[in-house]
Amino acid sequence: MVITGVPDVQDLPGDAVSAHDGSEVARSETLFVGDGVRQVFWALVCLLFFFLSRKMQAHFTDERDWNQFHQPRNLLLALVGEVGEVAELFQWKGEVAEGLPDWSGKEKEQLSHELSDVLIYLVELAEKCHVDLPQAVLDKMALNRQKYPANKVQGSAKKYTDHFPELPTYTISYNYKKIK
Ligand SMILES: [Mg+2]
Repeated sequence: MVITGVPDVQDLPGDAVSAHDGSEVARSETLFVGDGVRQVFWALVCLLFFFLSRKMQAHFTDERDWNQFHQPRNLLLALVGEVGEVAELFQWKGEVAEGLPDWSGKEKEQLSHELSDVLIYLVELAEKCHVDLPQAVLDKMALNRQKYPANKVQGSAKKYTDHFPELPTYTISYNYKKIK
C-alpha cells in the first residue's frame, strides 16, 4: 500500500517526542507497527473471519434464491435498517455502562442478533461493491495510526484536522477513495 500526502509520524508538526522516547504509548505503538508476526497473525484472523462470514451468508442467500434482490442499494438500505434496530434497543435507556450490566439476558441476546445482522449486510455490501473489506480495514487502520499518532492525541477527541490543520488531505493512491 502506498499512502500519498501522509507524512511519516516523525514528520508530523510539533513531533518533538519520537516513537523511541521510552514512553509507554510510543513503545506500544512501535511494537504494534513493527511486529510483523503479530500483524500477519491478525491479518489471517481477519481474512478467515470475513471469508467464513461471507461464505455462510452467500449459501443462505443462494438457497433461497434471494441473490436477485441483493443489489448494492438494497443491501445498503437493509444495513441501515439493521443499524436502526440496534439503535432501537438503546432508545430511551439514557447512558449505558460498558458490558450492559443493567440489561436482561433477553435484551443482550436481541442486541447480539441485530449486531450480527449489521455485520452480515456490511460484509455482503462490500463484496457486491467489489471492496476488499479485510484489506481495506488493515489499510484504514494504518492510515488512522498516521492521522492520530498515539503520542500526539492522548486523551483528545478532536479530529486530526484540528490537531494538524496544515496537513494536506489524506489520500490512498491505490484506491479511488479520498478521505476527508
Ligand atoms: Mg434484525
